[in-house]
Formats: sequence, structure tokens, C-alpha cells
Amino acid sequence: MTSVDVQTSTIDLGPARALSCRECGHQIPLAAEFACAECFGPLEVAYDFGTVTRADIEAGPKSIWRYKRLLPVPADVERHPNTDPGLTRLVKADRLAAALGVKSLWVKDDTGNPTHSFKDRVVAVALAAARTLGFSVLACPSTGNLANAVAAAAARAGWDSVVLIPSSLERAKILTTAVYDGALIAVDGNYDDVNRLATELAAEHEDWAFVNVNVRPYYAEGSKTLGYEVAEQLGWRLPGQVVIPVASGSQLTKVDKSFRELGELGLVEPTPYRIFGAQATGCSPVSAAFKAGADVIRPVKPDTIARSLAIGAPADGPYVLDSVRRTGGAVEDVTDAEVVEGIRLLARTEGIFAETAGGVTVATAKKLIETGQLDPDADTVLLITGDGLKTLDAVQDHIGPRATIPPTAAAVHEVLNRG
Ligand SMILES: *Cc1c(COP(=O)(O)O)cnc(C)c1O
Ligand SMILES: [Zn+2]
Repeated sequence: MTSVDVQTSTIDLGPARALSCRECGHQIPLAAEFACAECFGPLEVAYDFGTVTRADIEAGPKSIWRYKRLLPVPADVERHPNTDPGLTRLVKADRLAAALGVKSLWVKDDTGNPTHSFKDRVVAVALAAARTLGFSVLACPSTGNLANAVAAAAARAGWDSVVLIPSSLERAKILTTAVYDGALIAVDGNYDDVNRLATELAAEHEDWAFVNVNVRPYYAEGSKTLGYEVAEQLGWRLPGQVVIPVASGSQLTKVDKSFRELGELGLVEPTPYRIFGAQATGCSPVSAAFKAGADVIRPVKPDTIARSLAIGAPADGPYVLDSVRRTGGAVEDVTDAEVVEGIRLLARTEGIFAETAGGVTVATAKKLIETGQLDPDADTVLLITGDGLKTLDAVQDHIGPRATIPPTAAAVHEVLNRG
């Protein structure tokens, strides 16, 4: 936890007290700022949590708001219209465990969120903070899932939304954003181009809350709820190891932070855990840096079916390296063919249809086990962050009916006998 020196803020965002620079520690009052004025380092929320008990949390709503005392949101957050994501299933995945050769495995199934990805968590926190900070327009550059979550949350809150996406995005992700009827704009360029455009617009339009740009410090904290839920659902204990997909890297670093906070607050035993990052080889700048033993991330041009992870210049990449190295984990990457196989393996063993990012996580876990990097005897959690219905194009050439037959029992038997 970052200690708090500045207490000048009058803004009520619950336990949040200030924004603190991750690089130099410089603190400023709570505001819609994301970069340190002293050193341009990223700003992070600093808290004064006081005492938080398991009973407080367990008595809370069946959503991420049960952790509101650990988030930068006002005390009455659940009274305002939001999508109320979270408390998704933690599935004991025995059949997948047997297939992978590990003893005890759980899948955190975030396909169960309101717009079917973990992005509902970060957007819900960003919306709550943005409301308190005086905004009324929700905006983002997105690789798809964020577009869904922002457009839906804005619709529910009665806010306008401005959503910028690369024009090459999956058709399903375009339609599942457009249906909420905000301003959805397709940009000719890749995500990194769209992100640059958003940063320019955020400076121009002071009344637009770009969830992952000017209110990014608050947005990012929403990812902590994944870690809190895993620990609570395991019976208030930390897993031995967790595999997390990496796009900007924010989610991975915040799950790490959530485990540390739970230990520091005495909500769990501070047992050791290892954090593993998963990327698609066609966009694996963090994995490449990890394997090279480097501290800086060399940006790449993404070329992978895992478009929700296709960020070539990941903002939190260096902090991902810190998390995995500090905890004794690793970052690994898998090919698009392995991603499809990962999606199919999870589906046929556990009945869960994940999007390409989930395929990345499962396939990376498999590779980490095969290469001896994951301990087959430690309690392992895989974060499945998005729904396969949004990335049908990734699997459509690989799966389908076994046969098309006339409506006779004999024809059915014939197909089944073929095996
Ligand atoms: C955005 C996203 C991620 C990763 O998010 P970062 O915090 O940017 O690393 C993982 N999975 C899915 C499905 C996503 O949409
Ligand atoms: Zn700084």
C-alpha cells in the first residue's frame, strides 16, 4: 500500500486519499490526472483503508461493490445506476486439471459479467469515480471488450458515450457495442493509433472521461476485484499460482496488488504466490522482454487472432515484469493455432466457451506446465476474461457439425459409428 502524505482532497472516493506517482512517489489530490507532472510516471490511487473485515465484505452486495472499502468509489456507490459486475463463478476445473496434468485447478469465469468480459469491472469503477469527479460523458479507445462495457455502462447511467475502435475489429464486438446506441466510431488504424487519438482528444475535451486515459488510475483499480474474489471464493486464502492474460498489463499488476493488500489488511494469510503472464506470440512484447531479461519493452506491430490482447506498446509492461520477477513467475506466449486449441480444450473439458484471450491463458498454462515453469502440485487459478461468442471468427474454420444428414435414425447411427 502506498502511504499518504497529501490529504488536501475534499472529493469523496471512499478510502482513496490521493494520486501517487509509481516512479517518484510525488502525490497530488484526487483528480482526473494520469501522469506525474514531475517525471511523467503513471499515477496510482493511494488509500487509507482503516480496518476492513471479512464480515464487512461478506455482508455486502453480490457484486464488486462488496469490496467498495478497497476501491476509489464513494461509500454509497451501489445506489447509483451502474452495471454492477463481479462475483463471477470460480469453477473447480478437475477435468481440465487432469488434461493439463496439475493437481488442483480453478477457472475464474469472467464471461459471466454483464457484457461478458472482465472489462465491466474496470468500467464500473471508472464510471463511479468519473461521476464523483464531475464528468457526464464516458469515452474510451478499445480493442473490443472495453467498447462493450463503456457503451453499456453509459447507457445504464444515462450518459453519452464516445467509443473509438480499430476498424478491423471483430464484427460481433462492433455490433455488441453499437446496440447500446452511443457514439461508436471506427478508426482506420490499429489499437495503438486509436489510443494516441484518444489521448489527443482527452486533452481537448475536459468533460470526457476516457476510462483508460484520463481516469485510468481509478479504472485500473477495478481489476483488483478479480484477485479479491479469487481469494474470497477459495475460502479467504491466496492461490499458489495464477495465470493472467496481458494486453496493457494493467490487470496482471492489479491482481498482484490485490493479493498484497489482502495480506497486509489481515484478510488472508500472506502466503507466497507466483504470477504468470500470458500473451499471443503475434503480440508478445512483454514475453519477449521477460525472456531476454530486459527491463524495457520494445513495441511491436500486433498480428494475432487474440485482438483483445493486441496492444503493441503496453503501458504497464515494465510493471508486469516487476510482478512476475518479484513473485517468481514468468511471461510466456503461444501461437494462434495453440490459442484455438486452448479455446477448444477449455470448452470440451469444462463446458466454458472463452474468447481468444481465454485461449491464450489456457494454452499458455499448458506450455508453462510442459516446460516445468508452473508447479503441477500448487493450487492454480486461470483467469478467463472474455466470452467466446464475441470471437466466433477465430474458431469458425475449425469447428462445426459432424455431418448434415436426412432426418432418419439410421443416418444418425451411421454418423456416430463413423466415430
Ligand atoms: C482487456 C482485456 C485483457 C487484458 O487487459 P489489460 O489490463 O490491458 O492487460 C484481458 N482479457 C480480455 C478479454 C480483455 O478484454
Ligand atoms: Zn513522478
